[in-house]
Amino acid sequence: MAVVSFVLSASMGMAPMAAADAIEQTKGNWQDKFRQLDVDLPTPNTYRTASGAPGHQYWQQRADYSMDLKLDAAAKRLTGRQTVRYHNNSPDSLRYLWLQLDQNIFKDKSIAELTRTSSPAKDGGDQISYGTLARVQALKDTQYGMEIGSVTDEGGRALPYTVVDTMMRIDLPRPLAPGASFTFKVEWAHNIINQDIVGGRSGYEHFRDTKTDLFFLAQFFPRMAAYTDYAGWQHKAFLGRGEFTLEFGDYDVALTVPADHVVSASGELLNPGDVLTQTQRDRLAKAAKADQPMFVVTPEEALANEKETDKATKTWRFSAKNVRDFAFASSNKFIWDAMGVKQDNPAGPPVLAMSFYPNEAEPLWSKYSTWAVAHTIKTYSKYSFAYPYPTAQSVNTWDGGGMEYPMITFNGFRPNVDKKTGKRTYTANAKYGLIGVVIHEIGHIYYPMIVNSDERQWTWMDEGLNTFVQNVAHLEWEENFGEHRRNPNLPAEITSYMTSQGQVPIMTQSDSVLQFGPNSYTKPATALTILRETVMGRELFDHAFREYSQRWKFKRPTPSDFFRSMEDASGIDLDWFWRGWFYTTDHVDIDLASVREYRIATGNPDVEKPLQREEYRRDTKEPLGQVHNREQGLKTLLEREPGLKDFYNENDKFTPTNKDRNKFADMVEGLEPWEREALARAEKDGDWVYFLDFANKGGLVMPLPLLLKYADGTQEFVMIPAEIWRYNAKAVTKMLIRSKQIVGVELDPRQEIADADVSNNAYPRKIAASRLELYKSKDETKDLMADMLVELKAKKEGEGKEGAKDVPLAPGGQQ
Ligand SMILES: [Zn+2]
Repeated sequence: MAVVSFVLSASMGMAPMAAADAIEQTKGNWQDKFRQLDVDLPTPNTYRTASGAPGHQYWQQRADYSMDLKLDAAAKRLTGRQTVRYHNNSPDSLRYLWLQLDQNIFKDKSIAELTRTSSPAKDGGDQISYGTLARVQALKDTQYGMEIGSVTDEGGRALPYTVVDTMMRIDLPRPLAPGASFTFKVEWAHNIINQDIVGGRSGYEHFRDTKTDLFFLAQFFPRMAAYTDYAGWQHKAFLGRGEFTLEFGDYDVALTVPADHVVSASGELLNPGDVLTQTQRDRLAKAAKADQPMFVVTPEEALANEKETDKATKTWRFSAKNVRDFAFASSNKFIWDAMGVKQDNPAGPPVLAMSFYPNEAEPLWSKYSTWAVAHTIKTYSKYSFAYPYPTAQSVNTWDGGGMEYPMITFNGFRPNVDKKTGKRTYTANAKYGLIGVVIHEIGHIYYPMIVNSDERQWTWMDEGLNTFVQNVAHLEWEENFGEHRRNPNLPAEITSYMTSQGQVPIMTQSDSVLQFGPNSYTKPATALTILRETVMGRELFDHAFREYSQRWKFKRPTPSDFFRSMEDASGIDLDWFWRGWFYTTDHVDIDLASVREYRIATGNPDVEKPLQREEYRRDTKEPLGQVHNREQGLKTLLEREPGLKDFYNENDKFTPTNKDRNKFADMVEGLEPWEREALARAEKDGDWVYFLDFANKGGLVMPLPLLLKYADGTQEFVMIPAEIWRYNAKAVTKMLIRSKQIVGVELDPRQEIADADVSNNAYPRKIAASRLELYKSKDETKDLMADMLVELKAKKEGEGKEGAKDVPLAPGGQQ
C-alpha cells in the first residue's frame, strides 16, 4: 500500500534534537525496565498462587498461650509461668520447636550487643554520647536477658532445650506429626530494662521528679518462632531492627501487679469486678456509649494515686482471641479515658477506644489520643476490613516514638513544662507527632498484626503499607496535616532521600536496610500513593488493596503475594513499577528537553509560499547595518530612484509561480482518493503538530503528567502512561496534534510523580524565583579578660542527665 508522508514544516525554528532511536540502547547499558517480574519472584505453588492469593493448600501454625505473670515493680522484675499449646498445621513432621527469647538481646554477649558499631562525629572524629555512656553503665550494673527456670511437657517432665542467642530450641520427645498438637510449659523471669537508658521497644520509664514508674512490657515472654512454607523455621536472631514474625493464637493472661496500678493490655479485661471500683465500671459503661472520650480515671485521681505506695497486689485477667502477640502496660500514674466506636462495616464488633497516660502527658493526650484511635479504626476499615477486636488502646510510654501490639500501642509525645512557672505548652511537632504516631501504631494492628507479614524479613511490608494508609488517614483528619513538621505531599517529600547517597533497594532484609525511615516507611508509602492517585486511580487501587488485605488477613503474605494481588485484582501490569521502585535505587528525574511545533504542509504553493515567507522573515534577521542605516534616516538609491525597480523588486523567492502550481496539481492528481481527502482535511483543519522530547535522567520510568497551555489562555491536562518508555527507557519523543497553538508545556504540574528536579519540567523554562537573604559578617574572638569577669553561677539542686538518647528510631520515631 502506498504511504503518503506529509512533510512537516517547522514553524518554531528549533533544530530537532537527536531522535530517540539514535540513543544507544542495545550496547551493554540497555535495560528493559518492563521485563516480567515473574522471573525474579518465587514460583507459585499450592500454598501461594500466581494470582497472589493463598493457595488451596495454604497452611499456617497456631500457638495458644496461657500465662501467669507477676510484676515486681520495686525490683523491676517480671516473672512468668506459661503454657503453650502448639498446633502443627504444616504437612511436615517436626522434631523440635523454636522459640524467640527477645529479652536476650540485652545480654552483653548477644549478637546485637557485640555487633553495635560507632558512628563518627560530624567532623569525622571519634565520639561517645552521654546516652551511650549511661547505657554501657546500666548493662554493667544489671544482668538482663531471659532466665529460663524450667521447660517441661504437660506432665511436668523436663524437655531438653538449647538457647542460641535470641532463640531457643526445644527438642521433642517424639516428632510432632502433621495435624497434631504439643503442649509444654516454660517458667522464666527477667530484669526489666530502663527503656530511657537501654533503648528498645519496651521496659519501664522512671520519672525523676515524682520518683514514679511506668511499665510497658512487650517481647517479654518466650514466643513461638514462625514455621512457614517459604522459610521453614524463622531463625534470624533479633538484632533490634527486624521485628517479629509470629503465629496467631488465643491468649489467657493473669497479671499480678501492685494494687494501685492501672493495667492496659492486649485483649479484654475479664474481671473488672476484682480490679476496678464501681465508679470506674460505671464510667467505663458510659464511655462505651459516648461519642467523645470520657475519663474512667481522671487526672486528679491519677495524681492522687501515684502519691500512694501500696504493698498489696491485684490480679488482672485478660483474654485476647486470635492475636499474634501480647503486650501490657502497668502503672499507678495512669489517667484513663475511653470512647465507643461503632463500625460502619456491620461485620465489625463495637470497639472500645482507650488511652492511658500519666499527668505528664496532659493536656495534649486527653484532647487527641483516643480521637486518633477512633479515627484510625474508621479510616483503615474503609480501605481494608472491619476491625475484628473489642478494644484498641493507646498508651503514653515515652516521650517520642511508638510501638504496636495487638489491641495495644505504646506512643510518645508530651507537652513541655516551663521549669520556673510550671506552665505547659506543646509544640506543633508534639501535637501532630502524637496524632500521627497513634494513627500509625493503631494502624499497625491491621498491618502487620492482622495482615501478618514477615517483619523480620521485610520491614516495608508492614511499615510501608501502614505509613501509606496512615497518610490517607492524615488527610482525612485535616487538610495539609502536619505541615508544621514536613511536606504532607509524599511524592515531593521523598525526592531528597531518593537522590541521596547510601541507599539500598526497598527489597532488602530489615536488619541490612540503610536510611531506615525513608527506605522502609516513606518510600514505599510514596510508591503506593503514586499508584493510587496517579498510576492506577483510586477505584482500581482501592479495590486491589482491599482485596490484598482481605485475602491475607490472619494469614502471612510475602512480597510476591502483595505484588501479584495488586496486579491480579486491578488488571494493571505493574511489573515495571515494582521493579523500579522496590528493586532499584533509581530516582525520578524526567527532563522535558525540548518542544518543536509544526503545521502540516499542504504542498499548495498559494498556501505554503506566503507562510514560508512569514517564517523566513521571522527567523532570518536583517543585517544590523541595514537597521542602523534606517535609524539614521539614510535613504537607499532604490528609495531615491524608484524608476530602478523591476520584476524582481516586486516578487521575492516566495512568490508562487505557475510552474509551482502545475507541480502541485500533478501531485494531487497522483494521489489515491483517500489520500486526497486526508490532504484536503489537513488543509481545512489547520492543526498544530508538536514533538516533545523527554530525557529520563533519574532512571525510574514513570507516567508523564502534562499540562498544555494554549495561546488562547486555556489549558489541557494529559496523562501519558509509563509504558511510553518501553522501547527506550532513556529518551522518548511524544507527538501531539492539537487544533490550537500550544505556548507552554509543564511536566508534573501537581508534583505527583516524585520528580527530583523540577527545574527541567517546564518548556519554555521557568525563571527560578525566590527571596535572597542578606547577611552580615560577624567576627567573634575570645576575650579572656572579659570571660573572667563573668559572674560564676551557683550550682543547682538535682541537675542530672537529661535527654541524649541515642535509640535508633524511624522518622518521628515510629516503629
Ligand atoms: Zn511502624
